Amino acid sequence: MGDTQKPVNLRIPGPTPCPEEVREAMSRQMINHRGREFSDLFSRVTRDLKAVFQTQNDLLIFTSSGTGGVEAAVVNTLSPKQRVLGLSCGYFGDRFADIAVSYGANVVRLRAPSGFGVDTDAVESALLRDPAIEAVLVVHNETSTGVTQNLEAIAQIVKKFDVLLLVDAVSSMGAIPVKTDAWGLDVVVTASQKGFNVPPGLAFVSVSERAWQAHERARMSRFYFDFTNAKTSALKGQTPWTPAVSNLFALDVALAKMLHEGLEGIYGKHRWIASYTREQARRIGFRPFAEDRYASPVITSLELPKDVHAKQLIHALEDDYGIVIAGGQGELEGKIIRVAHLGWVSTQEIDETFEAIKKILFSAKNKTVPT
Ligand SMILES: *Cc1c(COP(=O)(O)O)cnc(C)c1O
Repeated sequence: MGDTQKPVNLRIPGPTPCPEEVREAMSRQMINHRGREFSDLFSRVTRDLKAVFQTQNDLLIFTSSGTGGVEAAVVNTLSPKQRVLGLSCGYFGDRFADIAVSYGANVVRLRAPSGFGVDTDAVESALLRDPAIEAVLVVHNETSTGVTQNLEAIAQIVKKFDVLLLVDAVSSMGAIPVKTDAWGLDVVVTASQKGFNVPPGLAFVSVSERAWQAHERARMSRFYFDFTNAKTSALKGQTPWTPAVSNLFALDVALAKMLHEGLEGIYGKHRWIASYTREQARRIGFRPFAEDRYASPVITSLELPKDVHAKQLIHALEDDYGIVIAGGQGELEGKIIRVAHLGWVSTQEIDETFEAIKKILFSAKNKTVPT
């Protein structure tokens, strides 16, 4: 891949490593964000993002992390006291619901057992049982557990009811198929530092016609993330507030690369490297945490053998091998490790990771380190 500056094998689910051309774009001189060059750039990245989202819906760009985009989806389409169904199979699903709660929504939660996606029949029963529900919140790829939900099936069920579907696709967009229009997804959120291989700082949000109608009725308080403001400015090729200009330079380059490679190729590569990663993990005796049918194409979570201490393993990988993996989040801290293969990654980096884990565990056995 011809990059000289990749000293660390960064196997976390974002920020993902950025190719050299993307990093170089970040160092360009500033331009006028109210000028013509900017509006050309803004129109181009908006068009290319729509191609990745597979949508003709409006596509809004915010300067924020992914959470800002998720919050934008909530506050622009919902009202306090409104009944909302929050689907969750982990930390990010819980957080989506927590955001809605913090703005006053009346959230019913439907949780899947750890390692599973939410059962689609359970979604249907929940909607049948409670006709007051007006919106469903779902995380497509639950980064904390390495579970990818069957978003298409969930969307099919939600569409049988007159209910809005808000999707956190932060760690899936650009790596796992998300067919925004074909699946009827009302608001879809992602961020620059995951599947796009762009530094953190931008959130992207698509808004369907139905979501715009909900927006007109939505009474949650909002200012910075207001959709109407963002759209009015976007029509002039601008943003309401000063955007992260450098990140947009980088995004422009990254999107051109992605579309040149082709989405199907990128999706296929992720599926392949995910199954390769699971195979390598099993080979050294680690059990995948996510059920096979929910296994994420972008991140593999692994149960730790009883005698292995998560922090010690993670620190040894970083200190002795320059390999950075993730631990568990929330209640899974200390119980699992997570190896990301999102975006710009090669099998060599996966091989290195498991070779190093094997060596660390072997030397630990021979030294009887305290666990
Ligand atoms: C990374 C991530 C987010 C948002 O993260 P930020 O740190 O706010 O960018 C939200 N949802 C999922 C599923 C994620 O993986």
